[in-house]
Amino acid sequence: MQSLKKLKKSIYIVFIVFSALFTANAYSFSLPDEKKPGDDKKAKTKKETPDSTKFVVNHADFNELSDIGEDNLSIDTTLADFPSHDLYDNWNTDKVHPYNFNEAFKEDSITLTLIQPEDCGFSMPHKGNYLTSLYGWRKYRPHYGTDIRLTTGDSIVSVFDGMVRYAKYCYGYGNCVVVRHRNGLETVYAHLSKILVKPGDSVEAGNLLGRGGNTGRSTGPHLHFEIRYLGQALDTQDFIDYEKGNLKSNTFTVRKTDVENKYDLRALHARHLQDLYGKDGYAGKSGYYKVRKGDTLGAIARRNGTTVKALCQKNKLKPTSVLRVGQRIRIF
Ligand SMILES: [Zn+2]
Repeated sequence: MQSLKKLKKSIYIVFIVFSALFTANAYSFSLPDEKKPGDDKKAKTKKETPDSTKFVVNHADFNELSDIGEDNLSIDTTLADFPSHDLYDNWNTDKVHPYNFNEAFKEDSITLTLIQPEDCGFSMPHKGNYLTSLYGWRKYRPHYGTDIRLTTGDSIVSVFDGMVRYAKYCYGYGNCVVVRHRNGLETVYAHLSKILVKPGDSVEAGNLLGRGGNTGRSTGPHLHFEIRYLGQALDTQDFIDYEKGNLKSNTFTVRKTDVENKYDLRALHARHLQDLYGKDGYAGKSGYYKVRKGDTLGAIARRNGTTVKALCQKNKLKPTSVLRVGQRIRIF
């Protein structure tokens, strides 16, 4: 009887020790964000002292969340810590565009108040106002931002208060920072030579985010600047008077009809092609075209307002390549 008691006791102790070990392990793997110690060194960024009088402040609550571990937090309480958490269903520090506007936007329209009295106001993203490319369809692809000419190394600052959601290199945008704002918008700052913030950093309007540059898909130093709502790009010139260097209005109404008729560039381009060439023979909103019997690269290019050379580059084809019926060709 005595030995049975002893056995029970030792089983109990082993159980406790294993539980403790397991829990400790769970904690060490449960940081809510993918950022690990040392990531800062790996990133193509270097911390430097901002030259503006305002400093980028680390968001204390975000750091607390990292320490607690996800076991103690439901998704909702985690998201509740981020700006405009009621609008967005995730806080993704890995993708520039993780949202689907058409799924998320159920209203016909919504009016946003851009700056609240307690906010730090608005800042131009860059001191310059020489625009080199505007929002719209640019040759063979959509251009969802406004390009502002700069000299490499120029300061790039956040336009509103908010929190940095994304800060790293990615194809196309190069070194890129995305800031989520309390007014519901997100702003994108691309082609930077240097990133000076990290996800979770709280910023005020005018705080330094990085240095302007020419990284990614860019021909010459410029800032590619976007304003998005639930992932849908909007024309920054509808918000900002670049000549005067201020906001056109403190409110902005996002209308479903405006998105359809003005902002959804891929859909607009697809409709334009449909008007020109009828129901078939062009790429849909997806940007892809399915080869039909009798198609040639030349005919596909002509009907889609592009060139054989551009199609060959996008699809790794030769001008002499034989097309199969049903083959998917990327148009834009
Ligand atoms: Zn651009």
